Amino acid sequence: MSAISDAKVLEALKAVKDPAKGEDIVSLGMISGLIIKDGNVGFAIEVDPRQGAAMEPLRKAAEKAVHDLAGVTSVTAVLTAERAPQASAGSSQAPAGGKQPATGPGGTMIPGIRSIVAVASGKGGVGKSTVTTNLALGFAQLGLKVGVLDADIYGPSQPRMLGISGRPTSPDGKTLNPMENYGLKCMSMGFLVAEDTPMIWRGPMVQSALQQMLRDVDWGELDILVVDMPPGTGDAQLTMSQQVPLTGAVIVSTPQDIALLDARKGLNMFRKVDVPVLGIIENMSVFVCPNCGHESHIFSHGGARREAERLGMEFLGELPLDIEIRETSDSGRPVVVSRPDAPNAQAFVAIARRLWEKVSAQIGADSPRQAPKIVMQ
Ligand code: ADP
Repeated sequence: MSAISDAKVLEALKAVKDPAKGEDIVSLGMISGLIIKDGNVGFAIEVDPRQGAAMEPLRKAAEKAVHDLAGVTSVTAVLTAERAPQASAGSSQAPAGGKQPATGPGGTMIPGIRSIVAVASGKGGVGKSTVTTNLALGFAQLGLKVGVLDADIYGPSQPRMLGISGRPTSPDGKTLNPMENYGLKCMSMGFLVAEDTPMIWRGPMVQSALQQMLRDVDWGELDILVVDMPPGTGDAQLTMSQQVPLTGAVIVSTPQDIALLDARKGLNMFRKVDVPVLGIIENMSVFVCPNCGHESHIFSHGGARREAERLGMEFLGELPLDIEIRETSDSGRPVVVSRPDAPNAQAFVAIARRLWEKVSAQIGADSPRQAPKIVMQ
C-alpha cells in the first residue's frame, strides 16, 4: 500500500529544475495549492507571467515526475502567474516603452472576438449548458461566427453536448487550436483532462486555466464567444466574471428557482462587476407530454416574466421541458442542428436572434466589420 503524500509529491518535484534559474522548482517556492485526492494530484506552478508559454515543458516535466510515483492515477499541473514578477527576474527585459497589457475588471479585449456573452445560473442542473450549446448553434444559424468557451471547469459538459472528443493540437507550442463541430469552435477543460478526473482546484488554478482557455486559444475571427459559466453566484463565479471582458450576461433559470430568487442573485453578481445583464431565460418552463403533446405547467407559469419585469431585466423567452431537448443534447446532437425546424429548435433560435440584436446594439456591430476596440479599464 503506497498512499501518496504531500512529502512524496514534493520530493518527486524536486527533480524538476527551472532551466532559467538552475534550481529545482520546490526550493524556488514555485509550487502551490497541492491537493491529493485518491491518487489524483493537482498543483499550481507559479511562474513569471512574462515567461508564460516558455514554461510549458516545465509544467509537463512536473506532471510526469509526479505521475511516475506509485499510487498516482492522474496529475493536473497548471501554470499560474499570481505573484508580481520578482525584481531580479529579468527586470532588464521589460519593454523599453513600458507597455503593459491592461489589467483590471474584465482585462483586455481579445483581438478578433467582437463580443463575449456569459450564460450563468444560480445553481446547477437548470439546463445552463444545454441552453449555451443550443444558443451558440442558434447564433451560427443566423450566420454568425461563433465560439463556445466551457468555463464550467468543475463539470465541463460542452464536449459531450457538442459531440466532440479528442484533444486540441498546438502547432506552434504556444496557442491551442480550438476543437470544432457543427461550425462552432469550442474550448473546454474537458478536452484537456480525463473525464473521470475529479476537479479539486484552488481559486488561482481555476483563474489561470480560464485565462489560458480564453487567451491562449487561436479563436480567429468570432462575432460572438458564448461562455458556459460554472453554476452558482459565489466568489469563484464573481472572480471569473471579472476576468473575462464580457459584453453581457444571460441568466438561465427554472420556474422554481425564480421563486427561490436564485436568478436575482445572478443579477446582483453581474451588477457588482458592471456587466450588463441582457436578460433571463426560463428553462423547463412547460412540460410537453411526449405521447399526446399536452402542455402541463408543473411549476407556476408566468413567474419568470413577472420577476424579470420587476427586476428591470428583459425576459428573453421560455423553453419547454421536453425529452427531445434532453436526449439530443445529452447525445451530442443538439436539437438546433439535428431538427432545426422543430419548435424546440426554433425556441432557441428566437432567443438567439433577440440576444444578438441586443449584443450588436451594444458593440455597434451593424457597421461594417471593424478592428476590435481595445478597451482599457
Ligand atoms: P446545468 O448546466 O445547468 O447543470 P445541464 O444543461 O447539464 O444543466 O442540464 C441538466 C440536464 O437537464 C441534462 O440532462 C439536460 O439534457 C437536461 N435538460 C436541460 N434543459 C432541458 C429541457 N428544456 N428539457 C429537457 N431536458 C433538459
